[in-house]
Amino acid sequence: MKNFKRLETRLIHSGEPDPRIGGAVSMPVFQSAMFEYAGETSYHDLKYIRLNNTPNHLALHQKLAALENGEAALVTASGMAAISTSLLTVLSAGDHLLVQDCLYGGTHDFITRDFAAFGLSFDFIDGDDPDSWERKLRRETRAIYVETMTNPLLQVADLKAVVEFARANNLISMIDNTFASPVNFRPPEWGFDLSLHSCTKYLNGHSDIVAGAVIGRADLVERIKHRLDHLGGALDPHACFLLHRGMKTLAVRVNYQNRSASAIAQFLEQHGAVARVNYPGLKSHSRYQRVCELFDGTGGMLSFELTGGREAARQFIERTTLPIIAPSLGGVETLLTQPALTSHAGLSTEDRESLGITDSLIRASIGIEATDEIIEDFAQALEAVG
Ligand code: PLP
Repeated sequence: MKNFKRLETRLIHSGEPDPRIGGAVSMPVFQSAMFEYAGETSYHDLKYIRLNNTPNHLALHQKLAALENGEAALVTASGMAAISTSLLTVLSAGDHLLVQDCLYGGTHDFITRDFAAFGLSFDFIDGDDPDSWERKLRRETRAIYVETMTNPLLQVADLKAVVEFARANNLISMIDNTFASPVNFRPPEWGFDLSLHSCTKYLNGHSDIVAGAVIGRADLVERIKHRLDHLGGALDPHACFLLHRGMKTLAVRVNYQNRSASAIAQFLEQHGAVARVNYPGLKSHSRYQRVCELFDGTGGMLSFELTGGREAARQFIERTTLPIIAPSLGGVETLLTQPALTSHAGLSTEDRESLGITDSLIRASIGIEATDEIIEDFAQALEAVG
């Protein structure tokens, strides 16, 4: 396979069939549940959709691995399929996980509610305080799990320390890289063993499928594929096709979203009706230096609180006309959500408050509309609540 130098080029050309199938410029959809037996010697290699190995899957695997400079990659039926299948592969009954305390709600719920049924245990760690991790370490600890930027507060853990700690203690390092996307951060380049994605978000970018991905060490990706074959979380070929198509514009979209979200975060920060803005690209972000060192761009996600609290947040959301009020993120359209009512509704109010997720927090996923039009709309909505 050709080795293209830059991510923008890899998005278009890596993993594409060579020669092109029937000369097709765009990858055709192989909507066939099974393929003729061709002498495969292992169950996992039989060509069957659930075994995640149609030409659509294989092209995506190569493209995704190339994007983050990972050894291998695997697509899955959803981000949660990638996360749960990976955790259920690297951990066996009796094992223990160190996990960052502020997580995407679905991952939080899986770990806190389902782990016990599999005989697994965990301890939360403060991703910003590496000195405290040792105390939580057990003989049966096997992995450490963090997110590149936390949802919805956009905190950035000491990611270099995570990799160092994992290496020193023989742990598998895992990171959910959904918020950054491979454009802004590539975990394998920093030594992470596994990078996980909800491709539902930036990688696909068009809010029309659910999909997930695992990128990283080839030996681990192979073990995860075998478990996925049993658990059944394969991605349908038509969703593969849409993901493949969406990914081609990833760099164009995310680079635009980086710039747009930065401008919007700056606008919000200087506005009198806004109490606090969480955005990694702001100099006021508590880990701004770390962000500059690790990331190529600061992303399209931000969250903020209004001085008027919960009622002002409700009114602001009601008065905006351009964003769509919906959960999820990473698409071409700007979305607003209140995490306490959506992604983190599964947590108790006390747990949410202790994490800093107040009922008045608003999260924005900035799309690719004209930046000044989003700012204009936010300004008129703030005017009304201010
Ligand atoms: N990880 C993060 C950071 C997310 O925001 C989400 C979904 O919102 C997921 C994982 C789960 O992905 P999916 O909805 O594709 O299962």
